[in-house]
Amino acid sequence: MKTDKILIIVAMGIEAKPIVKQLGLTELVPHPLDEDLPTRVFHEKINNKDIYLVQSGKCKKHELSRVGTQPASILAWEAIKELNPDLLINAGTAGGYRSKGAEIGDVYLCNEFKYHHRLMAPITNFVPYGVGHHHACEVSQFLAGLTIKKGTVSTGDSITCSKEENLQIFENNATLKDMEAAAIADVAFIKNVPFTAFKAISDIVDINDSTLEQFNENYKAATSNLAKELILFLNNLTENPVIYNH
Ligand code: SAH
Repeated sequence: MKTDKILIIVAMGIEAKPIVKQLGLTELVPHPLDEDLPTRVFHEKINNKDIYLVQSGKCKKHELSRVGTQPASILAWEAIKELNPDLLINAGTAGGYRSKGAEIGDVYLCNEFKYHHRLMAPITNFVPYGVGHHHACEVSQFLAGLTIKKGTVSTGDSITCSKEENLQIFENNATLKDMEAAAIADVAFIKNVPFTAFKAISDIVDINDSTLEQFNENYKAATSNLAKELILFLNNLTENPVIYNH
């Protein structure tokens, strides 16, 4: 697999910050993508590799991070078209299922991507289309030294879940729950770009309904762990590992 140009795609500024800081990435202003996109783009050449990080940016109307599948899809499409990466990585936080072994702060390499909110009329060909289901590209050769678990991520456009969505997450055999990965996997599939995702657990979904309280309490530790593992991974992709500053 060619890895000269790596594109990291992140939904929220608080997820991007430790990665941008520790990699020493510089913001490209104005950014090189479609000018109407409220995105932020960061770049640095590290050990002869182009590392780009794109972040969905803030909603112009609500002034909040543009989380969810639609902003992620548009950004992935536009960034792939303009930056032509060899490898696309979605990095972010996720909810985790303790029943599947997830704990706060764990970092996962996601190996399968499915949706849980695209529920179709039963017993039609649209059911598997709704679920999606893409696989990550093979990166096990770059995992030396990482403390990482592996699991399936299920993506939906809401933090909360209906009974039907919860059932679909169970059907999906998901260890993680997020709001972007399956959508980005779909774009990567269409564009034929190798794709994988690193997700750090910010909240445990199957203990109670306190997702937001847990997220607010844990996101700093989770995003710091995420940056650490992602940078170790990037080190393994480059010839001279020098890029992790604690
Ligand atoms: N600070 C926000 C919380 C954002 S959580 C608020 O106040 O609403 C949503 C983001 O974190 C999404 O980008 C999603 O991918 C990820 N995420 C973390 N935990 C999640 C969970 N339990 N379910 C779905 N997405 C989750």
